[in-house]
Amino acid sequence: MRTHYCGQLGRPDVGTEVAVCGWVARRREHGEHLAFVDLRDHTGVIQCVVDGAHDVRSEQVLRITGVVRLRPEGTANPNLGTGEIEIGDCEVELLAAAEPPPFPVADDVDADESVRLRHRYVDLRRPRMQRNLRIRAAVNSALRSAMEALGFVEVETPLLWTPTPEGAREFAVPSRLQPGSFYVLPQSPQIAKQLLMVSGFDRYFQIARCLRDEDLRADRQFEFTQLDLEASFVTQDDVLGFVSDAVLAAARAVTGESTPPIDRLTWSDAMDRYGTDKPDLRFGMELVELTDLFASTEFKAFRAPCVKGLLVSGAGDWSRSRLDGLVDRAKALGAKGLVWMKAVGGAPELESPITKFLSPAEISGILTATGAAPGDLVLVVADERRVAQTVMGQLRNDLGRPPVGDGPYRYVWIVEFPLFEALDDEGRPVPAHHPFTMPHPDDFDLLDTDPLAVRSQSYDLVLNGWELGSGSIRIHRPDIQERIFRTLGISDEEAAARFGFLLGAFRYGAPPHGGFAVGIDRLVAVLAGEENIREVIAFPKTQSGADPLTGAPKPLATRALADLGIRLAPRT
Ligand code: ASP
Repeated sequence: MRTHYCGQLGRPDVGTEVAVCGWVARRREHGEHLAFVDLRDHTGVIQCVVDGAHDVRSEQVLRITGVVRLRPEGTANPNLGTGEIEIGDCEVELLAAAEPPPFPVADDVDADESVRLRHRYVDLRRPRMQRNLRIRAAVNSALRSAMEALGFVEVETPLLWTPTPEGAREFAVPSRLQPGSFYVLPQSPQIAKQLLMVSGFDRYFQIARCLRDEDLRADRQFEFTQLDLEASFVTQDDVLGFVSDAVLAAARAVTGESTPPIDRLTWSDAMDRYGTDKPDLRFGMELVELTDLFASTEFKAFRAPCVKGLLVSGAGDWSRSRLDGLVDRAKALGAKGLVWMKAVGGAPELESPITKFLSPAEISGILTATGAAPGDLVLVVADERRVAQTVMGQLRNDLGRPPVGDGPYRYVWIVEFPLFEALDDEGRPVPAHHPFTMPHPDDFDLLDTDPLAVRSQSYDLVLNGWELGSGSIRIHRPDIQERIFRTLGISDEEAAARFGFLLGAFRYGAPPHGGFAVGIDRLVAVLAGEENIREVIAFPKTQSGADPLTGAPKPLATRALADLGIRLAPRT
């Protein structure tokens, strides 16, 4: 049907007879019988000069044949790839009519998102969405090639699966053949890939769709895609190496730039220096440890298990109401309070409602530790260590963090996560990653005495403050796995009922193994410079889990429910 794509024509094609196909991006009258028609396909736009084009309308689908020629002197458009040329002597064939689009097909559209999603097929015509989905394809392709080059084999695992204890609420699918029983959609192929290691696949990967019935956010959808991988006879360093290779190859495929090797931070350093396990390293503003300085202070509010400072450069002139807003924010985040101090004067001094309670040594200690200069603002939180860290970490992000897609790309590995993140209401530990994670070899003895102090062999990859994925070295010995289940309060009977098949498999010779999963939606969003993963997913759900295009989710007909053995209870 066509000889060329619209955006690929250029000066060298002058004099050539061509046929192009696409959508009418724009039509401008030129005198009574002549019109300029900009025809668009996924490669760009070409101007066609058409006689008697009265019926040509926006978004119609046309085939235009004609001869490429230079635009007349002075009419070239330097902002357009094809701006020097046009197609003349055009013949126009209408391939499909089109109603006026619900919003202009242009990058700077400000249509409501629900309108964009209802007409997603039009929305995806916009160059930005074309670019985003093509970046996504390039990322998938580069990840696949990198994994294959590393000797990984792609294996598909079931979507109709069984519950796994990875912490997320799961989607259930009723069984028609066994009414009253349910499959579960996989929140990840975790157990399946571990079984593949027992089967001797050695290195497995999959570009896997995962499903979690959890509240949607900018970086979370019900369904998302992971580069899921697992390997046998490997150490943590091996896994970090595989993932780095694949992710950096994907980034290179998009940006054309190589990234230096990825730094590592231990979880406890990340929490201390950045107040989060997802530190954004594109900007400084590290938290400053002030606990020792105030160990025996007269100012009671600062005699706390942890005192953290944060320097906000040049914010010394912030108004009282802005500072009050920061105090409210810190309290809303869980701190008992927040102290602000302005550095003033030549040899700086601190100005604050509480300075009068501090000794000169404490004031100069704060100035030295934070490096505050006149005109700067110092914030201080004194609290339990975890509270002081996370509140200051959040304030650091509030005050300093650029949009996620703004360069440079700063990757960091977070290693040595704690095995358990907290105790639940019944005093039982809650796994920080998932219960298949191998404890740190030096910390086994602490499992019964001080479980919260046990480190794990798990690791996260963070990019520009977003968690890109997690993984771990797994437990491959049934005795250790049973012990962890018991520590988690999962009885032997329950473990046998829920995961008997996994523990059973381990009894047939499980190799030591470990793996990882990279969130592809998030990786693509950062590389495409998008804050919301919906912008890199062809047909995403809205915040309320709906698809305005298809109307899903929808009620099922009573017949269909009956087939599944389901009767709906009245809504309470
Ligand atoms: N299954 C984990 C997840 O989806 C990743 C892993 O441990 O490999 O987060």
